[in-house]
Amino acid sequence: VDVNALLLSRIRDVPDYPEPGVLFKDITPLLADPAAFTALTGALADLSVRHGATKVVGLEARGFILGAPVALRADLGFIPVRKAGKLPGATLSQRYDLEYGSAEIEVHAEDLKPDDRVMVIDDVLATGGTAEASLRLIRRAGAQVAGVAVLMELGFLNGRERLIPALDGAPLEAL
Ligand code: 5GP
Repeated sequence: VDVNALLLSRIRDVPDYPEPGVLFKDITPLLADPAAFTALTGALADLSVRHGATKVVGLEARGFILGAPVALRADLGFIPVRKAGKLPGATLSQRYDLEYGSAEIEVHAEDLKPDDRVMVIDDVLATGGTAEASLRLIRRAGAQVAGVAVLMELGFLNGRERLIPALDGAPLEAL
């Protein structure tokens, strides 16, 4: 079976969501198909191992759905990066620009150690703002970046270019 064809066949295009003119890539059909979900998390786990990760960071919210099984399949710990205000302990936070306004994400400071090599997992790389902010958090915590791995990169939004400085040579993998 061609894994890429399987994954592509389980992504649903939703026009005008969340606002007019946006074509949203909906991964819920993929999550509902165990063969596709297994193939996806297996591929992301293989990438995490290949790039020497010691921890998996998942980005709220779909990065949690993918990141937790990826971490277990790669035999690695899982660290959630959450939207501001959700984590109970001492956090590092990072603000980043959106098309209109800004957003803020946080991580528990003590979850990331200097000898950790972190693989960031999410479903979609769009403008790259969320992934870029997560890389800043990881570096500010003193940890190393193993890479970023996503199901899908929306190339026309140039997220890859935006991520280059924060990646600092680490790989961006898009299935
Ligand atoms: P960025 O920060 O790269 O602009 O946006 C990426 C974040 O928004 C990711 O956390 C991703 O889950 C979400 N996102 C943006 N566009 C889409 C989309 O078309 N489909 C899905 N599933 N998520 C998206």
